Amino acid sequence: MREAERAFAVRVVRTACEICRVVREGLGTGDAAAKADRSPVTVADYAVQAYVARELGEAFPDDSLLAEESAAGLAAAGGALLTQRLAEVLRPFTPGLTETEIPGLIDRGRNGRDGRQWVLDPVDGTKGFLRGGQYAVALALLIHGEPVLGVLGCPNLPFPVPDAAPESPAGTGCLYAAVRGQGASVLSLGGAEEIPVRVSDRSDPCRAVLCESFEASHMDGGRMERITRRLGPAAPPLRMDSQCKYAAVASGQADVYLRIPPRDGFRENAWDHAAGWVVTTEAGGTVTDLRGNPLDFSRGPTLDANFGILATNGRLHASVLSVLAEPCP
Ligand code: AMP
Ligand code: MG
Repeated sequence: MREAERAFAVRVVRTACEICRVVREGLGTGDAAAKADRSPVTVADYAVQAYVARELGEAFPDDSLLAEESAAGLAAAGGALLTQRLAEVLRPFTPGLTETEIPGLIDRGRNGRDGRQWVLDPVDGTKGFLRGGQYAVALALLIHGEPVLGVLGCPNLPFPVPDAAPESPAGTGCLYAAVRGQGASVLSLGGAEEIPVRVSDRSDPCRAVLCESFEASHMDGGRMERITRRLGPAAPPLRMDSQCKYAAVASGQADVYLRIPPRDGFRENAWDHAAGWVVTTEAGGTVTDLRGNPLDFSRGPTLDANFGILATNGRLHASVLSVLAEPCP
């Protein structure tokens, strides 16, 4: 089931990771800008969105795409100069593409609607991408608001092979792929290796490995610390940008991903969680919001019915939810 969609998603995310690497290696002063909300955006974000939109139009022309960036954002960030740079970056990956087509391709990501909808975060964790930390290319397929496929390209996350030999693909980056009902796998970014992944079986909160955002401004640090202290894990939390946190839980490298938003009323973006949700749940984990409610992806670009995120190996879910439900002093 969904073999064509999985093969498509793996192929385009692999190439998108290559685009990111090319941009990261040659990053110039004009390649990053600030958006209206002051968050950074780079040539890689726009290049990946344009690339995926173009490939999607060829492979599944009737499907819609909901993605983070917009042509208006591109115009505000750098207009003609940035578009020129984008065309240059995209040339080896999109034969025949002209500069004038780029804004239209980027705005294909604004036509999210019911039915078959792809959800893309072209560079999730742009701050990590710029800092040399973790980032992910995240692509999911939703059918009537239900995620059925998720692929996470993680160029800076090592292929998780214990005791890897120096010539193994470890260190070249990896890609997590999952289809609803079919389990989750990790693929090496550079080679052909593919191995199934499974969450950990740890059930003692004191031995749990937690992960959280690298960026302090993305969470309520005080409450995160109080909850973590009450749970009592011995190890300090892993701080990591992007949906790589879902990959860490899916592969058993972490047991809990906790995301407490920095303020009441904060709503998560669908593209920050859809692919990760499929990967972690298919690896045997559980993902809800902080009240234990399932994530509702049927509401458009934001998860309006949810607050925060809790992704665990399943066994630890109830323990963390009960600590979250305790009154906070
Ligand atoms: P992470 O690296 O897990 O913190 O996730 C990166 C994502 O956090 C970005 O894609 C943004 O959508 C989201 N984000 C940006 N600013 C904030 C903020 N102030 N609070 C919470 N999330 C944010
Ligand atoms: Mg993001």
